Amino acid sequence: MTDQDVLVVGGGLAGLTAALFTARADLDTRVVSTGEPILRRNAHLENFPGFPAGVNPRLLLDSTREQAERNGVAFTDDRVERVAPLDAEDPPYPEDGDLGPDDEVSGFTVTLDDGDALTATYVVAASWSDPSYLDELDLSMVQRGSKRFVGVDDLGRTEVDGLYAAGRLAKQYHQAVVAAGHGAQVAITLLEDSEQPFYHDWVVPEGYFTGRDREVPPGCEEIDEAERRRREDEARAAIRESVADPHPDEPTMHPSVADEK
Ligand SMILES: Cc1cc2nc3c(=O)[nH]c(=O)nc-3n(C[C@H](O)[C@H](O)[C@H](O)COP(=O)(O)OP(=O)(O)OC[C@H]3O[C@@H](n4cnc5c(N)ncnc54)[C@H](O)[C@@H]3O)c2cc1C
Repeated sequence: MTDQDVLVVGGGLAGLTAALFTARADLDTRVVSTGEPILRRNAHLENFPGFPAGVNPRLLLDSTREQAERNGVAFTDDRVERVAPLDAEDPPYPEDGDLGPDDEVSGFTVTLDDGDALTATYVVAASWSDPSYLDELDLSMVQRGSKRFVGVDDLGRTEVDGLYAAGRLAKQYHQAVVAAGHGAQVAITLLEDSEQPFYHDWVVPEGYFTGRDREVPPGCEEIDEAERRRREDEARAAIRESVADPHPDEPTMHPSVADEK
């Protein structure tokens, strides 16, 4: 069918978090991104929950990407040039596949800067501040100054079925935790719109559901005490390693200041 279930455009906090959620729900997910997430310009991030004395924003981005990779997200470093509906005349299925020309085909063709094209059933646009690759689609955009935002409903759906927008591109507040949270919200909306069985993405102690004679709902996982301790040890080791040394990269300066220098 399509190359990917979900293709996310943009690997900032919104896109990475959306991809994390769809991959953990077993949708085959790829992030295509180029250029720097805007948070790399921040000097020290002091308002992202969970870090009492703040956190290096470049470390937060690296760690979030590693978390997405550990959960099965694939990455392509390229610019998306164009997103178009799959061409019904030129369907992406192999001639010997189960589908035939009479079957309904839904999804998108995503053309990359290097000329390659990928197909995806769902696309999440999280590419602050560039929506130009969506111009062929019948979407409402919100213009504010030189910036264009993609119009979405309360849950991140655009007017095109299967296309969502997340983070700052979807005119969310310009704050890191809001971008991450919106990425998660959009991903769960996508899951609810899809046929993928999903209840919540929760990891709970053994017996939390089954102890009440309930099935473990889709998306949830029960783990026993030994597995809980194993995961905690792995998590502590990963955090220790990530903060062992100061992050090597400097903040990125605003382009106009950098140009003056
Ligand atoms: C200087 C500065 C300091 C900040 N400080 C704070 C702070 O202290 N606290 C706070 O909460 N927030 C802060 N923010 C805001 C916060 O960084 C953003 O709101 C948030 O990170 C936006 O995330 P995003 O995922 O929506 O976008 P981004 O992180 O910008 O991610 C979008 C990604 O998509 C890529 N992309 C764009 N077009 C394409 C394309 N066509 N194909 C492929 N990839 C593409 C971009 O290069 C980028 O990597 C700050 C912002 C700035 C500029």
